[in-house]
Amino acid sequence: MADFKNLLNLIFPSGCIYCGRLSDDRVHGFCKECYNSLSIYLRKIGYTWYVFEYDKKISQILKKAKYAGKPGAVKKMAGLLGGLLLDKDIEIDLITYVPMHKKDIGKRGYNQSGIAARKISKILGFPCRENALYKTMKTKKQADLSKNSREKNLNGAFLANEHIVKGMRILLIDDIITTGSTLGECKKTLIAAGAAKVETAVIAHTPFNRKR
Ligand SMILES: [Zn+2]
Repeated sequence: MADFKNLLNLIFPSGCIYCGRLSDDRVHGFCKECYNSLSIYLRKIGYTWYVFEYDKKISQILKKAKYAGKPGAVKKMAGLLGGLLLDKDIEIDLITYVPMHKKDIGKRGYNQSGIAARKISKILGFPCRENALYKTMKTKKQADLSKNSREKNLNGAFLANEHIVKGMRILLIDDIITTGSTLGECKKTLIAAGAAKVETAVIAHTPFNRKR
């Protein structure tokens, strides 16, 4: 298998997801130099685990994954996040993710948070439950809104499946946290449906007042 991977790298060399440099020696998609120069470790703010503090480049990579049909980098970074979470022995029963409205999935073809959650589920060995949360309303893009309007925009936008979440300790996955309104609303919805505990994990923490 390793030989096959090497062969593929020779035929289709792919660059470091951060600097783009071609190299066949990569860690979670990063070349060794980038991997060593970035401060990569697991941090927690409130109930949210994350790996990267604000970094323009990481934000760009995540944006590309979201809007430019290139979710591969999210899968790689989710692998990194999953590996770091594994060391924490967090107590959960299932994993789920921030859902998109079905019309938006139809347009984009995938939900990058779902891609991340499935990868993390494989690493941690807990099931990823696809239908734990639904987005029932089309909402405005959070990135275009002020801090206050973000919460209003999402109010009542999600619905949780009681049969799946009742009594469960849940790890909720998203790609990025900004004001926390999205994760907060999802957590509220899960708890209201009977979830015993909700922790969240994201790849990057991007403060609202920074230019993304
Ligand atoms: Zn690099």
